[in-house]
Amino acid sequence: MLITADWVLPVARPPIRNGAVLVDGGVIVEVGRTVELRGLAGESERYDFPGCVVSPGLVNAHTHLSLTALGGLLAPAPLDVWISQLVTALGDWGPAEYAASASLGAVECLRAGVTVVGDIVYGPEAPAAAADAGLGGTFFWEVLGVPAPRLYAVLESKEYPATDHGWCSKRQRCGLSPHAPYSCDPSLIRAMHQAVDEFFVPYAMHVAESAAETQLMATGDGPLADVAKRLAPEFSAPDSSSIAYIDTLGALDGCTVIHACHASPTDIARLACAARGVVTCPRSNRFLGNPLAPVNRLLRAGLPVGVGTDSVASNTDLDLVAELRVLHEAFPAIPPARLIEMATVMGALALGLEDRFGILETGMQADLAVFRLGDSTDPETDFVRLAGAATTEAVLSGGVWRVLDGAYLETTDGIELAAQAARIRAEHALTKP
Ligand SMILES: [Zn+2]
Repeated sequence: MLITADWVLPVARPPIRNGAVLVDGGVIVEVGRTVELRGLAGESERYDFPGCVVSPGLVNAHTHLSLTALGGLLAPAPLDVWISQLVTALGDWGPAEYAASASLGAVECLRAGVTVVGDIVYGPEAPAAAADAGLGGTFFWEVLGVPAPRLYAVLESKEYPATDHGWCSKRQRCGLSPHAPYSCDPSLIRAMHQAVDEFFVPYAMHVAESAAETQLMATGDGPLADVAKRLAPEFSAPDSSSIAYIDTLGALDGCTVIHACHASPTDIARLACAARGVVTCPRSNRFLGNPLAPVNRLLRAGLPVGVGTDSVASNTDLDLVAELRVLHEAFPAIPPARLIEMATVMGALALGLEDRFGILETGMQADLAVFRLGDSTDPETDFVRLAGAATTEAVLSGGVWRVLDGAYLETTDGIELAAQAARIRAEHALTKP
């Protein structure tokens, strides 16, 4: 099919006025000016979007889709208080609840133009639900509070698919995530890093998120001390930053570092040497009272910096471009084109997905988002200003339309699961103390 619009943003090259994307069999065949592609397209089906801008399917590089049914139920609070709220709210959730909740999250993502996620999962339900709804991405199996010798048994019980390089399908990669330095024993973090080396899979960790974490690393006490005692009994304060601590364990190598709010210039140098990338979640950081990551300095160090919403348990929605607007306000010197890279190609790089997602180019997965931005002479600035759930016109993932005329198409099992999640959310709201 041939998809045309006022502007196409390939990301890897400058915006194309009156641009088009030619798609066949789930991959992109060609990107260019409509007049040039018409000949190539022959009898292809045609979708014209006047008044619109086409971007790659956006990459929400940090989500917990399985928590989507908790949206709006948790109050903003410091991390340690918020964690205990979360544990109470989850209660006795099982695989059915996680799957339904992930489906709801996947549909919310697609409605906001996101086709790729970096999702933290507790088992195979979330990636399966996400695939049903049309989302690709890297799905990180999370482990915490487990003694290192039990790691492989735990991964087996969570049905971790130990495939080479983690590719479970053309669109989904599976990785590992020790939750955080305060919830995993140092021996567990080392063991997970060894497993990552063995399977060649992506690997992510929440690091340097809160002042409480910084305090725990420096002195061993503070608001997270009890959590650490319970979940990481071998932990003792290294008297260094979290990032230095992970590096000393040999586990910063290849890591996708989520948050890095408290990264110092020395930490940034370590990240630039070792990490795969960083993911920043500005609205979630604000929700939990944390500072924004030093995004300008991370970019200057040459790190791929992806953007994530985190879960709706610490945010209002999964509208990724809203995160760009917060960054634009906080870092006005970062050009809009660079912010768009963060929500696309840099997210893909941070997740180990750059050979399939994040740019509109021949051979990439046919993932794109169409936003109705009106007449525009500066599509990148207008994208950051106006794109998002409110202006999503259409979304294609893997060559299949998931959203058309601004509405999610009820073509998959995803919609039924999303309805179940809405019921779970309603029940929670009723039983919430
Ligand atoms: Zn998270």
